[in-house]
Amino acid sequence: MLGWLRWSEGALLLLAIRHVESGLHWCGGGRSVRCSGDLCFADGNVTLLATNNITTSTTACHFVVHKGLLARHSPVLQDIFKVLEATKPDSFQGPPIVPLPDAAEDLACFLTALYDGTSHLHYDITDFTSIAAILRLATKYKVKRLRQDMLAGMSIAWPRFLTQWEIREANATSPNGIYEPRKSLPHPILVIKLAREVNAPYLLPSAFYDLSRCYPSDTVSGYTCPKTHQTHFLSDSDLTNLLKGKEHTSRFLSTFIVNELEGRQPSLACVYKTEIDPLRKRNCQAAFEAITFEILRDVNGVVCHRSSDPLFAIMDAELMQTREDPTGRTDLTVRACEFCRAEFSTVVDAAREEFWRRLPQWFGLDVHPWP
Ligand SMILES: [Zn+2]
Ligand SMILES: [Zn+2]
Repeated sequence: MLGWLRWSEGALLLLAIRHVESGLHWCGGGRSVRCSGDLCFADGNVTLLATNNITTSTTACHFVVHKGLLARHSPVLQDIFKVLEATKPDSFQGPPIVPLPDAAEDLACFLTALYDGTSHLHYDITDFTSIAAILRLATKYKVKRLRQDMLAGMSIAWPRFLTQWEIREANATSPNGIYEPRKSLPHPILVIKLAREVNAPYLLPSAFYDLSRCYPSDTVSGYTCPKTHQTHFLSDSDLTNLLKGKEHTSRFLSTFIVNELEGRQPSLACVYKTEIDPLRKRNCQAAFEAITFEILRDVNGVVCHRSSDPLFAIMDAELMQTREDPTGRTDLTVRACEFCRAEFSTVVDAAREEFWRRLPQWFGLDVHPWP
């Protein structure tokens, strides 16, 4: 495991050692190694060398940091320093050099988090790259608290509980009612890949559900990052999981429509129950028929662009009945009485909880306990 620690990291490392042996601080003297800037402390006592992605045109980047601070947070780095101390050549002077197989940008995010904390981070699309880097390295170097903090931050948008999902969805909706999660949240393909990489299963059910609402053809073509132009794909097994899950979620919605909406009987306390006029007597049944029609009309997302979002459709079945805004997407002229509505509301809540509970099973995810 510590193989990459040996003093045979090639010419680059020898050059670096010579710089240090000759008493030059790299920041001033070493031209062959890029300086990380503010993560090079004059009193630093260990030099980390980010060696990932070094090509003939790019050089490694160095960080002169504090051994004690890193060892305090990371048992993995602590072990590395111990091995280094034990194998140090007698002639070697100056801060030991530790080549790490990480990208310079990732290491910079990770070290900044260790030195400055993470309160400046936003857990949305803005800082996702930094958060992913910190989470990856905190996992790899076993910095437990930092990992927990990152996971807690990410769980705001990729939550474990339905109530948190509702808050996330509300936050991703603009004041004029347009649902735009991609504007503020990282793409679920990125989240799924990261969660797999750092073994964070609790982020997966919501990310899979989010992705299941996209067109399958879009998911298969992958997500192309507008900044790096790199395209990210789901693994084959996760793509299969996703498509299977999507079938389950739409089947759940069909069953809900058949069992709870089509031909729904009025409540025993229905205010129209004793009406003599047959039309008025049927008021609440007619109201539920109208909801059924609205849901079916929007099955392909043509009306509100929330294609295949059963969790939303089920909730909307209830909201449609109380929505006052005449400019809203539906203006149901027939509304159920308050007793029929209350009864239906209980059914909706139970169905949505049930739906949420089943997510891991549907998407083939091993998440225990859930939620
Ligand atoms: Zn430097
Ligand atoms: Zn009624």
